[in-house]
Amino acid sequence: MNPRALAESGLSEADKLRLLERRYPMVVAGVVSRVPYSTAKGHASYGDGFCVSEHCRDIVNIHDEPLVLAERGSWLCTNCTERLRKLLILIESSWGMLEALLYPGAPKGGERVSSTNTGSPAPLDVAVADVMGSARDWVWSQVEHFIEDMPGKRLPADQSTPSLAGWLGRYHVQYFASHPERSLPEAVLPELDDLIRSIRAQIYPTGQRRLDIPVTCAQHRVNDRGQFVKCGGQLFAYVRDSADGRGSEVICAADEAHTIQEYEWLGMLKAKQKQGER
Ligand SMILES: [Zn+2]
Ligand SMILES: [Zn+2]
Repeated sequence: MNPRALAESGLSEADKLRLLERRYPMVVAGVVSRVPYSTAKGHASYGDGFCVSEHCRDIVNIHDEPLVLAERGSWLCTNCTERLRKLLILIESSWGMLEALLYPGAPKGGERVSSTNTGSPAPLDVAVADVMGSARDWVWSQVEHFIEDMPGKRLPADQSTPSLAGWLGRYHVQYFASHPERSLPEAVLPELDDLIRSIRAQIYPTGQRRLDIPVTCAQHRVNDRGQFVKCGGQLFAYVRDSADGRGSEVICAADEAHTIQEYEWLGMLKAKQKQGER
């Protein structure tokens, strides 16, 4: 419908917005027609009811049938939905570090600027800029998809890449997990894994200061029998100089979505020491 016909249609605002929604193929009475997102979502069947993520599809029984059930009304299991949330929020929490690395020659916060290095622009780290560019393109393509599906939804006031990634992670993981098209939740997890890997490759380029930690990961994962179990992966820390205000990060070797804040693992280490003293 053209904009003028839409304006004169006498339709309610909600109905007008529905006509603007992106359309998806749906079989109605044996005929394929293209229906608005909300209609397609209302009739989505979510396949065979098993989680569609690459990781969970690899977990099969002896008859080669999948084992990990998806949540009701979703393509993904609880664990994969939670990974999606964490990986999106990781883009947000890594952003400050990427920004700090973007101009390697620039004076760090709190440092005195001497008269000799003022006036000359610091050189840009092209590799860091590339990673930030891919993250921005990826986050924006998801947000565009979201708005095309639901034209009535409002975006947050802060539309920077980290803010939008955090917003998607905190409030909209179900949008991905229960999308009428299976290809969306199937694609986002591996894409995010790649993105987080490339972000970490910039933040910790050498891994020289990688330190194994004598504590195993207490978060959850799906084991090779399709059961939710304690992860148990080896934790390691990327340790920064104590003068570096960005702090250290603790990551699980078994799943890059499993991270622990520095203050949390310091507490865990203290608890372990106390146990040893007894
Ligand atoms: Zn899963
Ligand atoms: Zn883990």
